[in-house]
Amino acid sequence: MRVLAIGAHGDDLEMFCGGTLAKFAARGDTVVMCVVTDGRGRPKGDPEQVVKIRRQEAEASAAVIGAVSHWMGLPDGGLWFDAPTRHQFIEVIRQHTPDLIITHPQDDYHPDHKTTSRLVLDAAQIARTVNYPSQYPPHRAPVPIAFMEAERGINFIPTEYVDISATFEQKLAMLDCHRSQLMPVGAEYDPSFALPPSEQNPFHHYARAISQFRGLAVNTAYAEGFTFWQAANRLVTTRVLP
Ligand SMILES: [Zn+2]
Repeated sequence: MRVLAIGAHGDDLEMFCGGTLAKFAARGDTVVMCVVTDGRGRPKGDPEQVVKIRRQEAEASAAVIGAVSHWMGLPDGGLWFDAPTRHQFIEVIRQHTPDLIITHPQDDYHPDHKTTSRLVLDAAQIARTVNYPSQYPPHRAPVPIAFMEAERGINFIPTEYVDISATFEQKLAMLDCHRSQLMPVGAEYDPSFALPPSEQNPFHHYARAISQFRGLAVNTAYAEGFTFWQAANRLVTTRVLP
């Protein structure tokens, strides 16, 4: 199957559904990791240089599991729900013809997360419209939309789980690609910055804590949780998660 995961920022998909994406990829599915914004917010430095670094990090992370990296390059912290942006989301969906879309829950903490979620839901519907002006054909299949984990798991109660025990190390390896995000806040980018050892690595700590917590619910070492958008054209009779 074809999986299109759409995250607001480089490192979101890795943290919130990276183990599941690795599992899809391992069984031969096509996985597209779409990063909406350009990451210019952090680390400190010339925004153009920072964007280049963030994009390279996202591409390296996708390469860990053999996923396709799709970089939308919209402004970090400046994502708006408007017609031109919605059009870009429609084109991404039509281009990749997904059987499943994964994105942020609708009320997640960051405006870029919330706006991404809303854009995805609306774009998925308009992507079906036959006469919508587009360079791609309409994507009319019923495409389930899964919401991945919320930031720090807050106000998010999964209804489906994926056992990621076998891909948890890949999840960490993907997170390790986003080394610029582990530099001290306010520090200029330093290409020689060394990742801290796993037990002191804040990304590893976060990933371990939340994946073990979700794993507790389903009696596995590590898991990721999801909910599904309950709406017309989104419901199917079979389980789509691996
Ligand atoms: Zn984010």
